[in-house]
Amino acid sequence: MRQRMMGVMFALLLFTGTMLAGGCAKEAEEPEAKDLVIDLPKEEAPGENAGDTSPGETPEEPDSEETQEPEKKGILISLDPGHQSPDVDMSAQEPNAPGSSTMKTKSTGGTSGRYSGIPEYQLNLDIALMLRDALAAQGYDVMMTREDNETAISNAERATLANEAGADFVVRIHANGSESSDANGALVLVGSAENPYVGSLYTQSYALGTTVLNSYCEATGMQNLGVQANDTMTGINWSQVPVIILEMGFMTNEQDDLNMADSSYREKMVEGIVNGINLYCEENLAGE
Ligand SMILES: [Zn+2]
Repeated sequence: MRQRMMGVMFALLLFTGTMLAGGCAKEAEEPEAKDLVIDLPKEEAPGENAGDTSPGETPEEPDSEETQEPEKKGILISLDPGHQSPDVDMSAQEPNAPGSSTMKTKSTGGTSGRYSGIPEYQLNLDIALMLRDALAAQGYDVMMTREDNETAISNAERATLANEAGADFVVRIHANGSESSDANGALVLVGSAENPYVGSLYTQSYALGTTVLNSYCEATGMQNLGVQANDTMTGINWSQVPVIILEMGFMTNEQDDLNMADSSYREKMVEGIVNGINLYCEENLAGE
């Protein structure tokens, strides 16, 4: 190293002398000097040319995990963080299913943390954004129905967005609320086999719901309340691809609410959901 520094200094001396003799403008000094330094290691230190070749840059481990593109799985997942800010008026009505005369509010406001004070729409968004990044890092293509709280998008529109994008399946992220503060645990909602709109998606949705819920509860320790059929959800009834609602826990239960507000617990939640999605894809979408 010392030998090399001497070499650099010698080169600079030579260079300075040349410049003085030539009477060049001052602006020319820097790039010229850089060129000289770049040439030196090739001649004097062939074995250690990794880090020091360019004085203007510090190439620290350029191939870290973050910069490396994961191998694409060719699977598109739609994530739907439930609800939105109360500043967005979603009180208008829309059909509860394609062609249905039953009308429901475009998107309700959701519940909120009785102990944490966190609104459900914020918790849903926070987890969905973490999930988006974790899934993308594994090579999934991920689309979001919203990435902020101000987006005005109805439940039917959320489903249609995923249909038109050709999503392989939809994971809707919600949290539960109850009159009773004792109610706790996670559950998944899917359209039933008898649902006239999405009955044909029941087997796949149920499989997705089971793997995601079991992995989620395993990772978090949340009580497992099972996969439940529900045919009243607009965002499910409009779907043309397997779809689940994951109710991550009860925001009206002290333990669930405070757990879901905790950043390290949230990492376990996301890890559990990713594990379940991986398992579902391996068993159902491999080779597609
Ligand atoms: Zn909700």
